[in-house]
Amino acid sequence: MPKPNKPDQSKRSFTSQEAINKMIANRKALPSVEELVAGIRNQNRVLLSKAITLIESTRTDHQQLAQQVIEQCLPYTTGSSIRIGITGTPGVGKSTFIEAFGGLLLDQGRRVAVLAVDPTSQVSQGSILGDKTRMAGLSTDPRAFIRPSSAGDSLGGVARKTRETIVLLEAAGYDTILIETVGVGQSEVAVYSMVDFFLLLLLPGAGDELQGIKRGIVEMADLLVVNKADGDNTTLAKQSRQAYKNAVHLFPPKESNWTPKVTQCSALNKEGLSEIWETVEAHHNQLTESGYWGQCRQEQSAYWLRETVQRLLGEQFYGDPAIQKRLKTLEAEVLAGNKMPFTAATELVSLFVR
Ligand code: GDP
Repeated sequence: MPKPNKPDQSKRSFTSQEAINKMIANRKALPSVEELVAGIRNQNRVLLSKAITLIESTRTDHQQLAQQVIEQCLPYTTGSSIRIGITGTPGVGKSTFIEAFGGLLLDQGRRVAVLAVDPTSQVSQGSILGDKTRMAGLSTDPRAFIRPSSAGDSLGGVARKTRETIVLLEAAGYDTILIETVGVGQSEVAVYSMVDFFLLLLLPGAGDELQGIKRGIVEMADLLVVNKADGDNTTLAKQSRQAYKNAVHLFPPKESNWTPKVTQCSALNKEGLSEIWETVEAHHNQLTESGYWGQCRQEQSAYWLRETVQRLLGEQFYGDPAIQKRLKTLEAEVLAGNKMPFTAATELVSLFVR
């Protein structure tokens, strides 16, 4: 009778020991929730960065840890911060502006953090903030904190991570959060829904359509800034400023009652930046007095709650193998004109709910 194969004990124990070592190493590399929260509260930039990396991670254990850190940081986000969204077409001078404007705010004693929302960075390898040469001054200033957009993600994913990162930054005492986004896609709508003040940078001389900026984006802005108002462009910038001034009067009134302002600056020569900050402050004062400031943040939270539910449902729906299979068939029927899209959708949703 043949002997049954004996399991190779040495190999087995070696593998499991290796796995255990790996687990220990992993655990060692990860600080505890308490360490992270205390580090963030003590403005420890290394621990803050580690916590943000956990937010950006796709690993379930990292996500769980990140969620606990965020929960514990929430009470420390007092709402006294100012979140500013900055958008504009590529080349308008966003990074030059943030570098100069951020520097001015640091000198005024504010604590500045810069984030970016750029879902296209997965294609362009980090088109904004990814390049170390951008914002060279701010990125080496120990008073500022800069974090590039997380790559390889959908807009929904980047938006969630950015919102969660804001919580950590505010718990770490950053009172001015600048969020950069490219003015060409849907990302500015996402950013608009997470900031208190929305600033649109424009080029002198060209209308917004020419700059590829949608009308809706212009109407969202609290402040329109014609950048590069220097050298040969000075007169052109003045003219553009006047043209935009005339145009904003025709915009539908904002719910906040704030009338959008128009100004000009030269980010390169650091001119016109104090006026911009004064406008941000005037906006803050007006909206705090009217009570709209807090109301707006509450509405934004409600918006993100609904938005997240939709996204999570969508992920579960399209990730369901039964749905994927049926969707293929139904899609073919719809394309062939044998079924109406609405009927097909209703059938799919019923299948999912069941
Ligand atoms: P971004 O793509 O919107 O981030 O634009 P950048 O900040 O990279 O600027 C694009 C180009 O415009 C660079 O060559 C900058 O030096 C230049 N630039 C930015 N701001 C100004 C400005 O105020 N005046 C002038 N003349 N050039 C500027």
